[in-house]
Amino acid sequence: MTFTESILDTLRDLLPEQRPIGLHEPSFGDTEKTLLADCLDSGWVSSVGRYVDRFEQDLADVTNIPHAIATVNGTSALHTCLILAGVQPGDEVLLPALTFVGSANPVAHLGATPHFVDSETATLGVDPERLTDYLADIAELRNNICVNRHNGRPIRALMVVHVLGHPARMDALASIAEHYRLVLIEDAAESLGSWRGGRHTGSWGRLAALSFNGNKIITSGGGGAIVTSDPDMARRAKHLTTTAKQPHPWAFEHDTVGYNYRLPNLNAALACAQLEHLPERLAQKRRLAKRYATAFAGIPDLHFQLEPKNCRSNYWLNLLLLPDAEQRDQLLAAAHAEGIHLRPFWTPLHRQAMYADAPRMPLPQTEELFTRGVCLPSSAVLGGEA
Ligand SMILES: *Cc1c(COP(=O)(O)O)cnc(C)c1O
Repeated sequence: MTFTESILDTLRDLLPEQRPIGLHEPSFGDTEKTLLADCLDSGWVSSVGRYVDRFEQDLADVTNIPHAIATVNGTSALHTCLILAGVQPGDEVLLPALTFVGSANPVAHLGATPHFVDSETATLGVDPERLTDYLADIAELRNNICVNRHNGRPIRALMVVHVLGHPARMDALASIAEHYRLVLIEDAAESLGSWRGGRHTGSWGRLAALSFNGNKIITSGGGGAIVTSDPDMARRAKHLTTTAKQPHPWAFEHDTVGYNYRLPNLNAALACAQLEHLPERLAQKRRLAKRYATAFAGIPDLHFQLEPKNCRSNYWLNLLLLPDAEQRDQLLAAAHAEGIHLRPFWTPLHRQAMYADAPRMPLPQTEELFTRGVCLPSSAVLGGEA
C-alpha cells in the first residue's frame, strides 16, 4: 500500500461513512433552540440585551479572565485590541506568518505593518528563542520604545497566536515582550478551552481576542470577544466597540470616533447555549484526537500533532505532518476525490500578495510546517460517545 493509501485507509476506518465530511462542523442541541426562541420572544434581537451581558459574564467565568467584551467577530476584537495597545499608523506589529489572514488584516487596517516572525513545531506558535535572537539583531530601545533599527519604525506590539488551539510558550514570549516594551496581544481565536499550566490562553496578554465564527469550537454564527484582566482596558474596549456613546437616558453624545462592533443579542443567545456545551465539546475533541493519535501511530514517517507539554489543548483542528509537499498534495487530492475534506495550513502570510513586502525574519520552520501540514476532519461529533 502506498503512503497516501495507508493514511486514507486509516481515515476510512475511523470516520463515519457519510460523505462529504467537512473539516469542522458545528453541533447544536435543544438549549440553542430554547435560548434563541426566548430571545425572539423578548423582542431584544439586536445590539443590546441580556444575553450579551450573560455571555460576557459566562466567558469570564469559563476562561477565568476577569473581563470579557463581546464583539461582532474575532477580527473586530483584534482590531480593538490593537487600537487599545496604542498601535499607530507607521508602527510595526510582530506576529507569526503561520496564521489566518484575520490576525494581520487589522494591523494593516490601522495603517501599521505586520512584521512576520517564525513559528516552532512543538507548539505551532511563535518560537521564543528565534525571536530573541532576531530582536537582538534588529531591534533596540530608544526612549523606552522598541524601534526597528533598519527603518526606524516603532515596533509597538507582539501578537501571539495559539494555532489550531495549541498554546504557545507564553512565559518566554511574555518576558520578550516585557524586555522590549511591546504590548502583548494574544490571538486566542482558535483556543477557547485551551490551557497552559493552569492558565487559560489569552490570560498573559494585556488584551486577547476570541472568535465564535461558524468553524470554531463553539459558534454564535459570527462573533468574537476581547478578554483582559485590566479593568481600565475592559472599560475602554466596551466603550470603543459600542460607538463611544456617553451613557445617558436619551441623548446621543459620543466622545470619540467609535466602532459599531456590538454582538447582536440573537447571536449572544446562541453563544450562551453553545458555551454551556463547551465541556462536552472539549471531551469529544480529546477523544477524537486520541483516536487519531492511536490510529496513525503505526504509519512510519507520519507525525500526529499532540498538545504541547504542560498544556491542555482544545484540539480545535487535528494536524498531520507528512514528509514533504508532494505527499501532502497527493493526500489532499485523493481525500477530496472521495469527499473527505482535508486542508493544508493557511498559505503563510508573507506569501500572500498584500503582505509580500512586509518585513520578516527568515521563516524556515513556517515554510516547513506549511509544506508538511494537513488538517483532519475535527468536528466534535466525530469523537463519538464516552
Ligand atoms: C477565526 C480567526 C480569526 C478571525 O475571527 P473571525 O471571527 O472570523 O473574524 C483571527 N485569527 C485566527 C487565528 C482565527 O482562526
